[in-house]
Amino acid sequence: MKINWKEIETKWRQKWIENKDFETNLNDKPKKFITVAYPYPNSPQHIGHGRTYTLADVHARFYRMRGFNVLFPMGFHYTGTPILGMAKRVEANDKELISNLKNLYGVPEETIKEFVEPVKIANYFHQEIKAGMIEMGYSIDWRREFTTIDPVYNKFIEWQINTLREKNLIIQGSHPVGWCPKDQNPVSQHDTLGDVEPDFTEYILIKFKFEDYIIPTATLRPETIFGVVNLWVNPEIIYKKITLDDERWIVSKECANKMEFLDKKITYDGEIKGSELIGKIVVVPNRNESIVMLPASFVESETGTGIVMSVPAHAPFDYQALIDLKKAKIEPELFKKINSINPISIIETEGYGENPAKEAVEKFNVLNQNDPKLEEATKEVYGKEFYGGKLNLKTGQFSGIKVSYAKDTIKDWLIQNKYADILLELTNSPVRCRCGAECVVKVLNNQWFLNYGDKDWKELTIKCFDSMNILPQEIRSEFNYVIGWLRERACARQHGLGTKLPWDKDWIVESLSDSVIYMAYYIISKFVNDKTVIADNLSREFFDHVFLNKGNLDKVSRITNISEDIINEIKKEFEYFYPVDSRHSGRDLVPNHLTFFVLNHVAIFPESYWPREIVVNGSVLMNGSKMSKSMGNIIPLRKAISDYGADPIRLAIIISAELLQDADFNMESVSGIQNKLETLFEECSRLQPTKSEMIEAEDKWIKSKKHSMVFQVTQAVEKMRLREALHDILFSFESDLSWYMKRASAKNRTNISGILHDIYSTRIAMLSPFAPHIAEEMWEKLGHKGMASLSKWPEFSQSDIDPIAIQSEEYLKSTIDDISKILKVTKITPKRITIYTADLFKSKVYHSILEKVMTGQTNMGIIMKELISDENTQEVKKIPDFVQKTIKDILSDPTEIRRTKLESKNFDEKTFLANELYEIGKKDFGVEIQVFCESDSGIYDPKEKARHARPFKPAILIE
Ligand SMILES: [Zn+2]
Repeated sequence: MKINWKEIETKWRQKWIENKDFETNLNDKPKKFITVAYPYPNSPQHIGHGRTYTLADVHARFYRMRGFNVLFPMGFHYTGTPILGMAKRVEANDKELISNLKNLYGVPEETIKEFVEPVKIANYFHQEIKAGMIEMGYSIDWRREFTTIDPVYNKFIEWQINTLREKNLIIQGSHPVGWCPKDQNPVSQHDTLGDVEPDFTEYILIKFKFEDYIIPTATLRPETIFGVVNLWVNPEIIYKKITLDDERWIVSKECANKMEFLDKKITYDGEIKGSELIGKIVVVPNRNESIVMLPASFVESETGTGIVMSVPAHAPFDYQALIDLKKAKIEPELFKKINSINPISIIETEGYGENPAKEAVEKFNVLNQNDPKLEEATKEVYGKEFYGGKLNLKTGQFSGIKVSYAKDTIKDWLIQNKYADILLELTNSPVRCRCGAECVVKVLNNQWFLNYGDKDWKELTIKCFDSMNILPQEIRSEFNYVIGWLRERACARQHGLGTKLPWDKDWIVESLSDSVIYMAYYIISKFVNDKTVIADNLSREFFDHVFLNKGNLDKVSRITNISEDIINEIKKEFEYFYPVDSRHSGRDLVPNHLTFFVLNHVAIFPESYWPREIVVNGSVLMNGSKMSKSMGNIIPLRKAISDYGADPIRLAIIISAELLQDADFNMESVSGIQNKLETLFEECSRLQPTKSEMIEAEDKWIKSKKHSMVFQVTQAVEKMRLREALHDILFSFESDLSWYMKRASAKNRTNISGILHDIYSTRIAMLSPFAPHIAEEMWEKLGHKGMASLSKWPEFSQSDIDPIAIQSEEYLKSTIDDISKILKVTKITPKRITIYTADLFKSKVYHSILEKVMTGQTNMGIIMKELISDENTQEVKKIPDFVQKTIKDILSDPTEIRRTKLESKNFDEKTFLANELYEIGKKDFGVEIQVFCESDSGIYDPKEKARHARPFKPAILIE
């Protein structure tokens, strides 16, 4: 039966809205406050965006059915420069952008013309995204919607920023930031192409003297100053002579450029060719020793200063370059200088001799300096020396220090003695701003920073993380890592939409700083949207009182002109819904937003309002590859919904991966899901809610199976293992169901409709958070009154799982399997089948062995001895073979099955098989099956098979 997705989905969405099903207010139920990072409305959402919001919606719907009062709200993040950049590109008539807007996103031409105004862009995509979220069936309380440029939101952010500043967590100072030279603005992840966070590394510039100049070289390992024997210069590069503050330097053009951004005053004095430096002498700063500058083509002008230290005892590249140089054709004068160079060893490492670089080059059979094996050799030497090496006597006062600790100590010493300076360089360059310019590191003076480097702040944050639930668990270490490296972070920008710094109106609070505690604002926004609260008189006393329980009500009411009752109502609602119970986001927000979210909560709110849980999901691939505009494989979410229906898309996203994995989306899986749902829908349309009586063995069994499915699904959803949960609901349970149908039809039963109805009702209820629209339709078809989404999540209890019922049915299945196998091997057409079950004594012995195995005893000798010493089982000495086989039988069972067998001690194999095997056996094999216990009198046993029977392993005779 084909489903008309659009019709069904519209029908149920309409009902949810009419009934206000997802409008959440304070009540006396326990609450769950579930939030997702709000979207940036600078483009419509595609399938990839759908993942995070869908996962959060399933979470919200699940808890609603578990009896919680769930608040799931949504806002829109207008803050920042991306929208501004886009407006500029529209104004400049950027062909690529306009074509994307028109063709990929279907924006009407007249609307695009309006996009020169940034707010128009935000408003347009805001409505697009919202429409998509509604069509996806997200159970959002839309009364709380807001944008980050709403006047009350501005007041709220002012309060946040003022509060942080009073706690000395916003500071003014000089700190390095990622920077766009064209926009003259700091950049972070949201401002760059490809959403990369500019990350930088501190290099130490060691200042060598050359005539009247300084030639600096950049290094991450300042200890190597003690082992430097020459410098490498690229003869092809034209270096700049510059005056930097009051020193004269020779560096590459790129280096001079970088130094300017690091707050150095630079004037350009002239140029010098690299080739002119070759063979000249420089003086090592600390030991006044002269070393020579030598040619090397591997030196690049973009990296460091364009001139490099050579430490051939510890750097395989330097060692190999010297060897290559000796073999090359060079003038005799220079050759003499090269030949007199001796590596200086400065690090002692176990396993290495005087020259670790030489040893590694020889070990890896490096051919020349272009050999890729040189990388491996370098990695090995650096790794071993860093973790296991100690500085030797050549390093003077630093002798004996571990290499891993040496960097900071030696850096401080070098800078104090003016032997060195600092260069900050982008580690992940090139990072491009959304405007297209290449970003640099800039030292910002007198700017406003959030002091994320503060030790006490970090400690409090770690305390919060330690108490939080992080899903999936393996992502926790990434947060610890982020907190470790976090330092001061610029919190204001000069351009873009957003809230002005309250004390310096030239600046706007940047987008990763005005999006950290806004979950609290969802409480206020409801009152803003119904006009109860307006921006005019909102002072910080209002927010202090509502969020922090400070100040007195009477005064706050007078200042704000809001009645005491309403302030009380808002405050109560906040105190009810806070803290955030679960925060959902994509993995790319781990190093920024999600960590800042926790940092800012612990700074502003008391411990009782600290967030409880973070859920992180991976991204979405399209047919195995990354989605991107350039690949042309972006599918706008609304288009996908209109083509395939929201529910099939929701399920296809969820079922393709567990939380942290990248989900691979493809159209085959969407149509597979559609087919599956159609079959399920047909079943639901047929079933009648008659009374279900548990009369037969298979009824008890399928009921137990249903309960264990409920148990497993519930556990999986709680841990956000949604792929597993959905798979259990849709697919794993099918094989149980088909066995049940086979059993019932062998008995020609007509009274199972009630049982099936109960089972399908359970499945559909559990499907409801995942595929909410079609589940409502199926729920209605099953004859239920009320909504599936508001129904109670199926109950389960361990006592509803009947181990004997499960055990006996498995026993029946395996007996039939065994018969089939024998028939297949022997190719007999059976005339008569006889089954022999083990006698009571064997059963007693079996359970005795099972108990021993469960306590960890598997040694045949010991088990045998114990059995013989027990008078109940001593007769076992006559059948040692049986004991051995039984141990083997038990060990081949999974622990789960062993436990069920242990619990079903009184299971009577013969009676059960005699009752249950007859019909299904006749149906499967076409003959009547006779069952005996091996100790029965009058037993039919012409081939003496009966004595081979073991508990759960009956002997079988086929004639
Ligand atoms: Zn830019």
